[in-house]
Amino acid sequence: MANPKDYQFDLPSAGRPAIFTLEEKFFPGIQDSWPKVTKKRIVHPIEGIRAVVIHATAGSSSAGAVSVMHAGKASFHWLVPDEDEKQHGKLVWACAPESLAAFHVRNDRSHPKVNGGATRVNHWSLGIEIVNSQKSSDLYSDWQVSMTARIVRFCWAKYPNLKHVVSHARLDPARRTDPGTQFPWEEFKKQVLDGAAEPVPPLVASVARARSFTPEDVSGCCIG
Ligand SMILES: [Zn+2]
Repeated sequence: MANPKDYQFDLPSAGRPAIFTLEEKFFPGIQDSWPKVTKKRIVHPIEGIRAVVIHATAGSSSAGAVSVMHAGKASFHWLVPDEDEKQHGKLVWACAPESLAAFHVRNDRSHPKVNGGATRVNHWSLGIEIVNSQKSSDLYSDWQVSMTARIVRFCWAKYPNLKHVVSHARLDPARRTDPGTQFPWEEFKKQVLDGAAEPVPPLVASVARARSFTPEDVSGCCIG
C-alpha cells in the first residue's frame, strides 16, 4: 500500500506549462480570517516559491475546513470541494492570497529532499487542502485528483522556481498522514507531469485555429 510519508515528486525544468487558467473563487467571507492566519513571506512571493504541499482536511465539508481559518488555527491557499458539495466539478475555493504565507506546516518541520531541508516551509510554499475524511469509505473523486493536479500546474506555470510537490505527511511524519493512503499519488503525479487533465482554454483554442498554430505557439500572449 502507498505510504503518504513517501509522497513526493520534483518538477523537471523542461515541460513547464505556458498556459494556465484556474477555476477558482474566494470562499465567501474568508478575507476576515487573513489577519489571523496569513503572514508576509520572508522570500520573494514569486521567485521564492519552492514547493506545493498536498493536504486532506480529515473533515467532510469545505465550510468545516474554512472554520479552522476563522478560528485562527491554520490556513491554506486552496480548498478542493468534496463530491456532495455543489462546487464539486466546477471550481476550487481560493482561501488565502498566494502572495502571503499560509499556516499549513509547522515551522520546525522539514524534509532533507525538500528545498535542502529548510524549515519555515510556509514561507516558501503553497498549501492545497482536499476535502476528504481520510477514512477508507471516503474515496477521492477523479475530479478532486485532476483538479488538484491542475492547481499544481497553475503554480508550476506561475512560479519559476517551484520544484517540489510533497505531502504534509512527508514533511511532518510524526504528526500527520495526509493526504492518506487512498490518495492516488501516482495518477496525480502523471496528471501534473503530462498535463492530461488540462483542457485548452476556449479563447486560446479559437485563436490557434484562426492562425493555424498549435495552442502552445500562442500561449502567454494575452491570457491571464
Ligand atoms: Zn495537512
